[in-house]
Amino acid sequence: MIETRPFIGGSFVAPASGRTFATFDPATGETIAQVGAGDAEDAGRAVAAARKAFDDGPWPRATPRERASVLRRLAGLLRENADALAALESRDAGKPFKETAQRDVPRAADNCEFFAGAIEQRGAEAFADRKPFLGRERELLSLVRYEPVGVCALLTPWNSPLMQATWKIAPAIAAGNTVVLKPSELTPLSTLKLAELCAAAGVPEGVVNVLPGLGPEAGAALVASDGVDAVAFTGSVATGIAINVAAAATLKKVTLELGGKSANIVAADADLDLAVEGCVLAMFRHSGQVCLAGTRLYVHESVYDAFAERFLERVGRLVVGDPQSPESDIGPLISPQHRERVEAFIALGRDEGAATLLLGSRPSGNGLQRGNYLSPTIFAPKDDEAAVAREEIFGPVLSLFRYAGDDEVLRRANGSRYGLAAYVWTRDFARALRLAEGLRAGMVWVNGYFLRDLRQPFGGIKQSGLGREGGRWSLDFFTEPKLIAIAY
Ligand code: NAD
Repeated sequence: MIETRPFIGGSFVAPASGRTFATFDPATGETIAQVGAGDAEDAGRAVAAARKAFDDGPWPRATPRERASVLRRLAGLLRENADALAALESRDAGKPFKETAQRDVPRAADNCEFFAGAIEQRGAEAFADRKPFLGRERELLSLVRYEPVGVCALLTPWNSPLMQATWKIAPAIAAGNTVVLKPSELTPLSTLKLAELCAAAGVPEGVVNVLPGLGPEAGAALVASDGVDAVAFTGSVATGIAINVAAAATLKKVTLELGGKSANIVAADADLDLAVEGCVLAMFRHSGQVCLAGTRLYVHESVYDAFAERFLERVGRLVVGDPQSPESDIGPLISPQHRERVEAFIALGRDEGAATLLLGSRPSGNGLQRGNYLSPTIFAPKDDEAAVAREEIFGPVLSLFRYAGDDEVLRRANGSRYGLAAYVWTRDFARALRLAEGLRAGMVWVNGYFLRDLRQPFGGIKQSGLGREGGRWSLDFFTEPKLIAIAY
């Protein structure tokens, strides 16, 4: 049994209340850790530590090169500890080990390395002008320096915790900020381990604080704190809205990465082999518990039957099983409550009259009945208004539709209150661009799923979020441009 606690001011400390909460292995239901539960008092301590490190400490005053070298050491430590971290992440989040080992942990290291390079490359700006002032023309040199914002509260969801934590911590500290990160209470373990690695890499005390605890207690206290200058949040729409409202009271800068109901369009001229494999990944990776999941699949009527037959056959071959096994494609859902919520959506889909092309169920045998497993469901809903086609289910439930023309599919794809990602599968370059231009989403991938270049902007429009992360957009968020105007 793992025992861990908040990381504040450079060490693991007992929470003020002395309370703990448990985290569970979604594959077995076993308790895997007891975690010290941070509350409002601990949030105050963590913010004070971050404030001191920002106001008086060496980190904001270090050169970009010095900060970059610490981030590169952190990337190295993440790689050295990759197997252990991937196993921990897989156990805590129920995510297949092959995904945490091949994608999440390498990406966490890449995030640190990327922002090390990005901060070294980031320049200042200068403009020259001439202005009359008090009796004579004077030269005017305007310098723009990108200074850290201050203390940043970072809040992350449960589905890819280590990747998300580094995606926020790396740019924030690269830019010279200090942070308090509150991981999800469902999966806090890899982020607490990350805090330890930050210290080992030479991040000074107080620069990275990790506050495990419940959202409405530890998270809300951070967002409300006068000592916090900016809030970067990834999670659900409802929490995002609550955070935006709370942060407005003290005029904090906010970025929100929220949910999605992403459209996935297979055109008549698509490479069907590629599209079938790509759409399976886009929908069922991490059991559909991915913000970018392509949960509304629109297939052109001329290829619908051929596509659907191959797609169903391929989904039927996905292995639902122990996330630690290399054979498994689909692990358990995060919690029993979440599985019940997904199952309620499946019942609703059937009540609404959707044709059920594949019905998910709780597998048993090989001990699977102990975990929160649920095999894939594929609906062909009556129309786009069906609840299963509108709501973010965050589980292995797909809505499959046929469409007749590009204008029609654009209208239907855009008829969602979300606007995170969209996908297009086509061999026609002009159609790819026309559809991509017409789609109302923050990100459109053509003939690919989630192909990331860390210089890309990441984020959504409409209810999928506010602002962007990634590349220079992260650094823009975590800095304030300061003007220094010099007349001479
Ligand atoms: P959530 O909103 O329940 O929780 C996210 C974080 O906010 C957690 O750390 C939680 O403890 C905290 N929190 C909860 N209530 C709070 C409050 N009142 N004040 C402050 N903090 C609070 O989300 P979740 O269930 O952990 O994650 C799933 C959601 O995240 C899905 O909607 C998914 O689409 C979204 N998500 C989005 C992205 C993206 O990049 N757009 C990435 C991953 C997940």
